[in-house]
Amino acid sequence: MMHIRPTPQWNTSPALLGFGVMRMPTKADGTIDRTLSDAMLKAAYEGGVTYFDTAYTYHNGESEPYLGSFLRQYPRSSYQVATKMPTWLVSSLDDAKRIFGEQRQRLGLEHFDFYLLHSIGKTAFTKMVEIGVLDYLIEEQQQGTIGNLGFSFHQIYEEFEYILRYRNWDFCQIQYNFLDTEEQAGRAGYNLATSLGIPVIVMEPIKGGSLINLNDDLASQFKALAPDASAASYALRWVADHPNVKVILSGMSTLEHVQENVATLKNPVPLSPKELHTVETVGETMRSRIGNSCTGCSYCMPCPFGVDIPGNFALWNKARMFDSYQIIQRAWESPHAADNRPSACTECGACVPLCPQMIDIPADLKTVDCELTALKG
Ligand code: SF4
Ligand code: SF4
Repeated sequence: MMHIRPTPQWNTSPALLGFGVMRMPTKADGTIDRTLSDAMLKAAYEGGVTYFDTAYTYHNGESEPYLGSFLRQYPRSSYQVATKMPTWLVSSLDDAKRIFGEQRQRLGLEHFDFYLLHSIGKTAFTKMVEIGVLDYLIEEQQQGTIGNLGFSFHQIYEEFEYILRYRNWDFCQIQYNFLDTEEQAGRAGYNLATSLGIPVIVMEPIKGGSLINLNDDLASQFKALAPDASAASYALRWVADHPNVKVILSGMSTLEHVQENVATLKNPVPLSPKELHTVETVGETMRSRIGNSCTGCSYCMPCPFGVDIPGNFALWNKARMFDSYQIIQRAWESPHAADNRPSACTECGACVPLCPQMIDIPADLKTVDCELTALKG
């Protein structure tokens, strides 16, 4: 049986390791590779995973019906399903009601164990309040179609605090890993939720899988602790050492990921002081490599010339942190983003006074362009 953290606020008891199905393997045509995905979900379920997280938009809408049909072979009481309201597709209360109804049909479920406002910031949340979507979801919960109501979050801490304090949520879902302690909700957000008694569900514990592929100088520090233990296992154990984290959602994309994550979190072993020191040293080393302190707040946006300022800085900082061009190559070279790149900057200066981090944005964009163009070769 998988490790469970009893949570008095919840009417159900998920296992600590949850399955985020966003990264399910796909075929060449972009549809879900059902043979491989079935094997992964089966291995997870049989390994003790009970919490399965999907969303209306994942895999172009295929994720919910696929997951629903897969889970139907098991007793309903043996698993929990989480799905999300895509707030960016919601302009009216009728939109929200239609989407919610579609989700019940797609998943074939009478009720969702966990339901989230998907990836909200303050603006999207305020809109959901104003057009009545939040009240509607609370009504659905009172009628039993939603077990636990929460939100997922990727914006800056200040917006997280606003949303978290707005009401007594059943849970919040944040990106959290040993590298992102000062990003998004971060450590401060985890501590705030804990102080308010709101359980935390963590996504991106391995930072979208990127913590698996560390360069030799960093990977060797983990290897020195135990030759057979992976960097991913330390990342998961670091998150598991936070007692108010009740579910760790791993976006597994291979059978090996499932097997390794199940083995790590079935009975998670707390990090020893030496292991914790190594994890924190690796995190600090990586953070010290970043090019600037852009938080992604977007206060500088929109740029009148179309530059995606936070997007470019995020790619730059990621390439530097991981000391790897490959890790951002696809995004950097994407033809869809060509017009948003630093070369479009005219150095008009309009963005500079808007940045709370006092970043010299045009100067840093030039550096981004130079460094990443040189790496592209
Ligand atoms: S300085 Fe560059 S990035 Fe900033 S607003 Fe002007 S064109 Fe856009
Ligand atoms: S450059 Fe400054 S204002 Fe723009 S997203 Fe980054 S931190 Fe925010």
